[in-house]
Amino acid sequence: VGKQEVRLAEGLRNTVTLLAHKIKSKHIDLTLTIADDLPVICGWPGELNQVWTNLIDNAIDAMPDGGKLEISSQPDKRSEDEAFVLTKIIDNGAGIPEDIRDKIFDPFFTTKEIGKGTGLGLDIVQGIMKHHNGSIKVQSEPGHTEFSVCLPV
Ligand code: ADP
Ligand code: MG
Repeated sequence: VGKQEVRLAEGLRNTVTLLAHKIKSKHIDLTLTIADDLPVICGWPGELNQVWTNLIDNAIDAMPDGGKLEISSQPDKRSEDEAFVLTKIIDNGAGIPEDIRDKIFDPFFTTKEIGKGTGLGLDIVQGIMKHHNGSIKVQSEPGHTEFSVCLPV
């Protein structure tokens, strides 16, 4: 299947709907802020939904006793011919310890109990970002973890 037009707002809303029950049962407050002038991008919608699912799943796992999950998506026009969509998934869980921060994208790296994590989520996310010529970066400190996904328009 070739590239298609992707409406990120739709994908984000659908993913959140699928995870709504889990979010609620963990007492997580969700804020979803999607700019109404988000440009349509070109890509593989199913793959991008996998990205949102994996990142939101990790954020939920990081807040076992509840917390705040902030999801936002906005246009990021850097110049006349360079436009991106910037999507952020932010949680206020424990954070990613500095000594493992360079390992989290490695296949099979997990800090979760056996059976709870495969360690493949972020490896898959990174592969999908490459496929879309996009990028992902993470900023984390105790109480604040932010994954920023940048996709070219
Ligand atoms: P898995 O979720 O199966 O463990 P991932 O590749 O999705 O595998 O994530 C790898 C590891 O990165 C996790 O086990 C966890 O230690 C860390 N991690 C990812 N997202 C977060 C987050 N939002 N907060 C804290 N740690 C995280
Ligand atoms: Mg995961």
